[in-house]
This record gives sequence, C-alpha cells and structure tokens, in this order.
Amino acid sequence: MLLTQTRALSSGAVLGRTQPGLSTRKASASAQVRYSFVIPVYNEEAVLPALLLELDLLLAMLDGPAEVIFVDDGSRDGSAEILNGQVQKTACYRLLQLSRNFGHQAAITAGISRARGDAVIIMDADLQDPPCVVPDMIAKWKEGYDVVYARRAARQREGIFKRASAWLFYRFMRVVTDVEIPPDVGDFRLVDRRAVEAFENMGERDRFVRGMFAWMGYRQTAITFTRPERAAGDTKYGLGSMARLATDGLLGFSDAPLRMVVWLGIAISFLAMLAGVYAVVLRLVRDDLVAGWASIIAVVSFLSGINMLMTGIVGLYVGRIHREVKGRPLYLVSEAVGFERDVRPAPLVDRLAGAGS
Ligand code: UDP
Ligand code: MG
Repeated sequence: MLLTQTRALSSGAVLGRTQPGLSTRKASASAQVRYSFVIPVYNEEAVLPALLLELDLLLAMLDGPAEVIFVDDGSRDGSAEILNGQVQKTACYRLLQLSRNFGHQAAITAGISRARGDAVIIMDADLQDPPCVVPDMIAKWKEGYDVVYARRAARQREGIFKRASAWLFYRFMRVVTDVEIPPDVGDFRLVDRRAVEAFENMGERDRFVRGMFAWMGYRQTAITFTRPERAAGDTKYGLGSMARLATDGLLGFSDAPLRMVVWLGIAISFLAMLAGVYAVVLRLVRDDLVAGWASIIAVVSFLSGINMLMTGIVGLYVGRIHREVKGRPLYLVSEAVGFERDVRPAPLVDRLAGAGS
C-alpha cells in the first residue's frame, strides 16, 4: 500500500502542477486550510497505526496545509486514546468525540461541519478507501470539479452476500430514485467548499450522504479504484445497519414505494371487483352453489396482508416525518480536541522546523 501510494504521489498529481485544460483552482498562498480529511472511526484500534502512517506520508506531500478530523463515533476500544495521542503530537490532527455511537453517516456529517478546507475528503478509517487514490481526486478537483467520487471497479475479498446485495441495491436505486445516485460508489469522495456549504444547508435527519451529494448536481466526476479488503479489524456494518442504510437511501430519495402502494391498491380493488361480478353471474346461472369458505379465507387473509404491507410502508414515511418534526440534533459532541490550534503546514514541515530549533 505504501509503495503504491509513493508511486502515485511521485506521479506529481498533487505537487502543484497544473493539469492540461481548464484549471480553476490555484494554490492558496495563505495559511488557510486547503485540504480537510474527515475520517469516521468506530472501534478501529487495530487499524489506526497503519492509517496514521499512511496519512503522514500523504499529508507531507500535499501542496497546501491540511487538517485531519477524526470523528470518534463512540468507540469502546482504545481508538480514542490512540487518536488523542496523535492529536497532541501533531498540529494538523483534530479529534471530535461524539457522545455515543450515532452511526457512520452522522459521524461524517459531524466531521464535515467542522472542516475548514477548500476541499474536504471523506474516507473510511480501515484503509478500504486507500489514501493513494486521493492525489487523483485532487487532480480532478483542480480541473474544476466540485465533487470527485471514487467508484469501486472491483472489490477484493468481500463476501459474496455483501457484493451481491450492494450490486442489487445500486441497480434498484437507479431505477426507483428521482436522483441519479452513481452505482458502486460509497462515501469516499473529495468535495469542494461550495458543495460542503450546500450539504450543510440540507437539514434532513436521516442522512444518506452519497445520495445528498448526488442530489446537488454541480460538476461531478468519478475516478475508479479497486477496493482492497480491510487492513485490520472487522466490518462495523452488520446486516442490520446495511438494511438501515439501504432503507434511508430508498425512502429518502424516492417515493416509489408509495406509488407502488397506490398501484397495488388499484390493481387489487380491480381484481376484487371482477371476482364480485363473477360471483353474481355464478349465482344467477347456477343454484347448486356451496359456500366456499376456504377461498374466502384465502382472499381475506391475502387482502389483510396487503393492507398491512401498505400501512407499513406509509408508516415508514410517517416515522421519518416524526423524526424530522422532533428536530433533535443529528449527533452530540462530547469533546473537540485540537480545533483551537492555528493551522500549520503539513506534518513533515512541522517536524523539520522542530528539528531546526
Ligand atoms: N463507522 C462509524 N460508525 C459506525 C459504523 C462504522 O463511524 O457506527 C466507521 C468505521 O469505523 C469505518 C467506516 O465507518 O471507518 C466504514 O465502516 P466499515 O468499514 O465497518 O464498513 P464496510 O466498509 O464494511 O461497509
Ligand atoms: Mg470498511
């Protein structure tokens, strides 16, 4: 991984060289933060040492001051201690500690709200979103794109169920949503300041971050990468949280389920009407009819099943309205460490300056 990263970096993608074609973003001369990394962390102590190493390497080679915002999403292992140590050691690291586990999407939202960079890069802590891809994203951003998302061309060693369900979900979403959400794209992306501001203005409680960025439009582009397996530790997305994310995406960006309910209702009423006409006709032409209780039971239970399904779907939307009306904050911060510090150049420069004094 480090090797590929060094190779990618030495290609000069981030070293301030302008790209051919239009280049709308010039290097900022001030000490303003140019790049903010937002990294949600939930029980990731096993992978953090490797992540910090890769980040140090990456930051040292960027063409402007950077900050790294770790959002500790209520970890119960040693993650907070490791991150705290890093924040004390190096000026550009910050730690936002949430009061409990609020979930991946809320953690990303929390990090973005504190990011000050011209470009904000969202990535997972487990190195499945490899830092070596970031230079290519930055190069695209410099060409003038507002959102550069990373598309998974292939996934290494992820279970067949995860791959199949993800494949199906993204295709299904494509059909039913009003917004064009790119398939095989997670939250790994670079976002320009103006897209960050648009994101901040979106107040919905149930966050489906990738959908929200897709909704805004602006100039968006993709880069592709092979998604490696987790560097260490286990996935924090069980079946339950995957289903929750999928529901948030579906209900938040589509009213197709509601339309389906309406059409199903119409279709079933029509069938029931036909059955009624058939029963009347049968009664008129024959007089030896035996009441068919079995078929009545079948029809009634079928219809009550459909009824429950419809009420359930409507209920899901009502639940979402309920959450919106309550207007609770998306997350609570219990501690914010390192944010008060001046923005300083990348860590390598820090260290060189320290050695000279
Ligand atoms: N994560 C989080 N809160 C959660 C679950 C996950 O902040 O409740 C973080 C996790 O630490 C990781 C990222 O979200 O940095 C993605 O999680 P994971 O790698 O477990 O998901 P997967 O890649 O398996 O879909
Ligand atoms: Mg992962």
